[in-house]
Amino acid sequence: MRPGIVMKFGGTSVGSSTAIRQMGAIVRAAATREPLVVVSAMGGVTNDLYALVKSALAREPLEERVQAVVRRHEDAARELGVDFACMAPLCDELRELARGVAMLGECTPRAHDRIASLGERLCARLVAGHLALLGLPAKAVDAWDAGLLTDRRFQGARPLPSTEASIRAAVGGMDGLLVVTGYIGRTTQDEVTTLGRGGSDYSAAIFGAALGVQEIQIWTDVDGVMTADPRKTRAARRIASMSFAEAAELAFFGAKVLHPATMQPAVRKGIPIRVLNTFAPAQPGTLVAASNAPAARGVKSIATKDKIAIVNVVASEMQFQWGFLAKIATAFERREVVVDAIATSEVSVTLTTDADAPLDLLASDLRQHAEVEVIRGVSLVSIVGEELRERRGFAAEVFATLAELAVSPRLVSYGATGNNLSFVVEHAQLARVVEALHAQLFEERST
Ligand code: ADP
Ligand code: ASP
Ligand code: MG
Repeated sequence: MRPGIVMKFGGTSVGSSTAIRQMGAIVRAAATREPLVVVSAMGGVTNDLYALVKSALAREPLEERVQAVVRRHEDAARELGVDFACMAPLCDELRELARGVAMLGECTPRAHDRIASLGERLCARLVAGHLALLGLPAKAVDAWDAGLLTDRRFQGARPLPSTEASIRAAVGGMDGLLVVTGYIGRTTQDEVTTLGRGGSDYSAAIFGAALGVQEIQIWTDVDGVMTADPRKTRAARRIASMSFAEAAELAFFGAKVLHPATMQPAVRKGIPIRVLNTFAPAQPGTLVAASNAPAARGVKSIATKDKIAIVNVVASEMQFQWGFLAKIATAFERREVVVDAIATSEVSVTLTTDADAPLDLLASDLRQHAEVEVIRGVSLVSIVGEELRERRGFAAEVFATLAELAVSPRLVSYGATGNNLSFVVEHAQLARVVEALHAQLFEERST
């Protein structure tokens, strides 16, 4: 088949029989556009699978946890009238893998991804079963059978360069309405991999780009990309359109609505991404495309990373020398720690990273060259929009708001692109800061 659009449905959109009926109606209405459907696991199932591994390692009783995952799918299948038989072998596989982990007292990254993959694999079968009952020629397909091959970076795999060709060949050779698993792939040695948490959006973009579709649709549980996380900021509003660069910055700086890698394949092929609400499908959503009309430039959204850490590196021997930054960068590379924001002075560099990164190992590597301090309990706030710098007085407005709240940012990063102003505050200050900035940047202007 040659799909015209990719339609990806996230965890909430396939989280219950009611939601699956809803998404089924959306797919049926789009049938003439020849969709390729990509699904996440049912909401919460990936977390349950992660928790199951932890329990297995702790030698806790497993059957109850396995059964909870099985029951989720069994109940939904019964409510939808779908035959559970196509899911039963995967449930057996889950039980065996969990027992294996418990027996060994060890879970390799490879085993972990194999277990985590089962959420999407079960869900694709459930959803395809429902779509078939609607009279659509639906088939569940595991991502690798649709050609998605990856490297061996478990829990953060990346597609191989050959993947585009293999997707085209595989999908071109199949017919019907394909319901493909998001989030997962396989290596050339037949090991199951995952693309990292939230990775189904990325899968959708990989398939969309490989197949040259007209549009990649991300169906989720909010009206689109909003001016802030609507679960934390009640006044958040839908953004009608934004550029790939803006969406990529927002995702990188913590807006969960799109996985950060999603934009890369879309940008390469110039394919627009539309973010839509499964539970309000008539809403126009957000269009993410190559560039904004001049009228649509300016401040777009506030993203936050609630739990980050600051790594302060102070050169121990006198001042900076050339080569010093390279040593720091090498330590981050070696421990595979991603840097969000950086600031420097004559003798020190301050960087921010995810609080879950292997910071103890990183710090011990860095201490070979410098004094190191790691500060936790801080959060990163990023204001994103194309040509922020063009808005006269923008930074002054932001810092005046912080001053009114008596908040002094610990680190400021501005100007790497004209798209982003980021700063670090104490975690305890985060909610107040976002509320005040949202009011100032998006609410007062419109009244
Ligand atoms: P899915 O399971 O559909 O992939 P996610 O939970 O991964 O859904 O992403 C959608 C969630 O992203 C929303 O429910 C919302 O809480 C959160 N979110 C964070 N920032 C934003 C934002 N700027 N715009 C919209 N949603 C956001
Ligand atoms: N199910 C996976 C997760 O929870 C992937 C996704 O939802 O995009 O991370
Ligand atoms: Mg998601």
